[in-house]
Order: sequence, then structure tokens, then C-alpha cells
Amino acid sequence: MSSKEQTSANLAEGAVPAPLTNLKIQYTKIFINNEWHDSVSGKKFPVINPATEEKICDVEEGDKEDVDKAVKAAREAFQFGSPWRTMDASERGRLLNKLADLMERDRLILATIESINGGKLFSNAYLMDISTSLKIIRYYASWADKIHGSTIPIDGKFFSYTRHEPIGVCGQILPWNFPLVVLAVKIGPALCCGNTVVVKPAEQTPLSALYVASLIKEAGIPPGVVNIVPGYGPTAGAAISSHMDVDKVAFTGSTEVGLLIKEAAGKSNLKRVSLELGGKSPCIVFADADLDSAVEFAHQGVFFHQGQCCIAASRLFVEEAIYDKFVQRSVERAKKYTLGNPLNPEVQQGPQIDKEQYTKILDLIESGKKEGAKLECGGGPFGNKGYFIQPTVFSNVTDEMRIAKEEIFGPVQQIMKFKTIDEVVKRANNTSYGLAAGIFTKDLDKALTISSALQAGTVWVNCYGASSPQAPFGGFKMSGNGRELGKYGLHEYLEVKTVTVKISEKNS
Ligand code: ADP
Repeated sequence: MSSKEQTSANLAEGAVPAPLTNLKIQYTKIFINNEWHDSVSGKKFPVINPATEEKICDVEEGDKEDVDKAVKAAREAFQFGSPWRTMDASERGRLLNKLADLMERDRLILATIESINGGKLFSNAYLMDISTSLKIIRYYASWADKIHGSTIPIDGKFFSYTRHEPIGVCGQILPWNFPLVVLAVKIGPALCCGNTVVVKPAEQTPLSALYVASLIKEAGIPPGVVNIVPGYGPTAGAAISSHMDVDKVAFTGSTEVGLLIKEAAGKSNLKRVSLELGGKSPCIVFADADLDSAVEFAHQGVFFHQGQCCIAASRLFVEEAIYDKFVQRSVERAKKYTLGNPLNPEVQQGPQIDKEQYTKILDLIESGKKEGAKLECGGGPFGNKGYFIQPTVFSNVTDEMRIAKEEIFGPVQQIMKFKTIDEVVKRANNTSYGLAAGIFTKDLDKALTISSALQAGTVWVNCYGASSPQAPFGGFKMSGNGRELGKYGLHEYLEVKTVTVKISEKNS
């Protein structure tokens, strides 16, 4: 397999059809109790196509009062004795499988929405985002009837058993970079464990979640189990994280907002919090690595989806002996892009999500130039419509530069030089983030030693970005709390109850 094929190892098989032209957006309202609602305030907000800067539609703007309505519905659906609480666990699994089947049926619509609304390459949306979302929901569907506690022998006159119970009403706040995938990551485990949810999609990308809401109803998931409230972060998002009747909040987004969410939980009802936050992930390439493969993985690691990935390999450390060659190869690779509308199959790089991100990335690029990094290619905006940025590579980057410290979330690669293992491990860990890391070497001992030393929730060896629903994902340090995906992901949606029973002494 070539390195390019390896990078795409989790692509589903099959050809990509043409995206839908003139897709009519049907779902733009607030979804509560399996019904569509206008916002209480009467306000709506515009949803923009980042490739054209044109409005796609207006969506009802949820705020505190709408969140209150959604939480009330979720609480009722969670009442002891409700249809959802009394449902056979295998039936919860069947409903999740049904939802995945409906999403698969409507894959073309969902992929077109992700591309128009999220600026994603249509082929990636169709092959990767939708496939990954389906796999995650089906993975958790199959867990639904396999969740149970244990019996624990204690003092002879008693015995204890544990029950793994759903936590209750879970708030779930989503990011804009993987709207559908993260929706699956959130609702899959929450529902399989028997919780009810109030989801707030990111204000930039609410449309795929609202489409999925219609499928949730069609699948037969009972009213109130999934409620979706589009709206802004400081209003609808904050109303969820500070709500006294929300039992848990799961968030994916910036570390800055993660801090606010934890604070809001602490100031309200100490709701459980799980956070998947930002990163500034190191990728370390030794001179003995397979050069072709390392160049390609390091490249994809930072340029995939216009650099808008929390795991972006945005600090690339290359051993001195191969540094110049590596830079040259990375620049050649970065120059190969065609930028444009992500619906167009000829295009390999779409727009950044919005004006704010676009401006922030350009500002960081300017800081790199000013602070003395060598601009190898790119370095500015592209075109005059849409939020496009040229693929940019900086060499001679040093650790104290802003581009080496701050999360850029754009198509910008920083290449640093190192000499020794001790030095590079120290430098790689010298950050408040700890989401992911990559190591490229043919020396197994080096790979294992450095994997142990790196402070990161995921370490890739001789690859970057490979993931699956079965493997846990989350951050050390300020990259987050808790784990999503895999069996560990279930723990975030369960309370453990210990029941202790006295046994009649004559029977003990
Ligand atoms: P970015 O900076 O990349 O846009 P954010 O962390 O701001 O990412 O946003 C991620 C999600 O968090 C979005 O759904 C957004 O609306 C939400 N959000 C933003 N601010 C808050 C807040 N104060 N409380 C709760 N949610 C918020």
C-alpha cells in the first residue's frame, strides 16, 4: 500500500456519486419532543455557505427558553417508568441501527449538506464523514444490550451488586468541523446507555443535525429522547451548561469554551462534564523513517479538512539529518492543491468555515512571517470570494513563535528541527495541550519509549490520524477530560449504583 492509500485506510469502498444540485433545505426549526418548534423569541439566524459567502437559509435561533423546553421534554422522557426507561435494551440498539440505516439511505443528502454548510470536500463527506458516523452509531447500537454491572461478595451477611444506570438528561454541545461525526460520537453512547439528550449544534453548521432529527423521528425513537436546539454558544450553549436540570454536559470545541463549560457546571449543579478540546499536536520524524510515508502522513496530518481538525499535527519536529530534504518534499506536496468549491470533484481544498477563523489564521500566518520563520509557500488568502487560504508551509520555526504555540486550525504547516531524543520529547511535551502525537521511525525501541514519554491521549506510530469507533479518544492536560468512543466512551454516560442486600443469617 502506498502511504497515500494508508492515510485513507478508513475510507469506505465505492465510487462517489455527484452531489445533489439545488438541494432544498427542509429542516430549519427547533426539534423538541419529535416536533418542530419556532424559537420562543421569534428570532432566526442565517446559515452561510463558506465557499460562496452566500446565505443557505435562516434557522430558528434557540436561546434559554427553548433550552428550558427541550430539557423539560428530555426530563419527561427520562422519567422512571417512561417508554424509554422501560424499553428492552436490545430495542434501544435496534432503534439506533434503524437510525443508521436511514442515514445510509439519505447519505447523498447528508453529504451534500456537510459539503455546502461545512465547506467539506464532497467526496470526503460522502466517503469518510457519513461512513464514520454510521459505524459509530452501529458500534454503540451493538453495545446497548451488553451493559451490565457485577455481583460483589462482601461481608458474609450481605451481598452487593452494581447497576450501570444512565445518568439522565445529557446536554451535548457540538463543533462545526465534523458536525455529523461528532453528533454520532455524542448521541451513540448516550442513547445506547439509556440517557436522553439536548443537542446544540454549532451555529455555523446546524443543518445536518436538523436533518438527522427528522430521521430520529422516522426511526421511531420516542419523543423527548433526542432534542436539538440550534443557536449560539453564549446563549443556547451557556443555557445548557448552567442548567440545573441537566445531569451531564459533553462538549467538543475550543479549550477556551471548555473552561467556561466546566465553570458553569461548577457554579450550577455540578453536572458531569466531558470535554474534547483543542490541541497543538507534535509529530516527530526521525532520520531512519520511511521518508515518503512520513512526508505524506505529516502533510495529511495538518492539511486534512483545511487544517480544521483538533488532532492537527501542527508542530512537526524533523531530525536534523533529513530536515532540508523533508522541508523540500513537504513544500512540493503542499503546492499540489486545487482550491475551490468543495462540491467540485476537481477540488482538493475547500474554504475555512467562517470569516472569524479565516481572519485568525491569516493573522497567525503574518505573525510567523514577522517572528522570523521562513515562508516556503502560500502565506495569504486565495481568490476573492469564500474563505480560502493558500496551503502554507513555514520552515525554521522555533518553539517560542506564536505559530508553534497556538492552535491555528488552518492549512499551515510548521516545521522545526531537532537533534536528540531527550530534546524532542521535552519540546513536544512543552505545551498545555495533550491531544495527540505522531512518531515516525523504524526503530521499535525508540517508538515504544517515546510513545510512553509523550503526554497525549493518542499516539500514532508510523501513521497519523487513523481512528475507529472501537478505540478511545480524548486528551491529556488542557485538551480535555474523559474519553469518547470505544468501551471507555460508555463510562461517560453511566452512573454506577451499588446495591447491598442483607442476607438472612441462617442462609449465610
Ligand atoms: P470555535 O472557537 O472553533 O468556533 P467554540 O469552542 O467557540 O469553537 O465552539 C464550539 C461549540 O461551543 C459551538 O457549538 C458553540 O456555539 C459552543 N459555545 C461557544 N461558546 C459557548 C459558551 N459560552 N457556552 C456553551 N457553549 C458555547
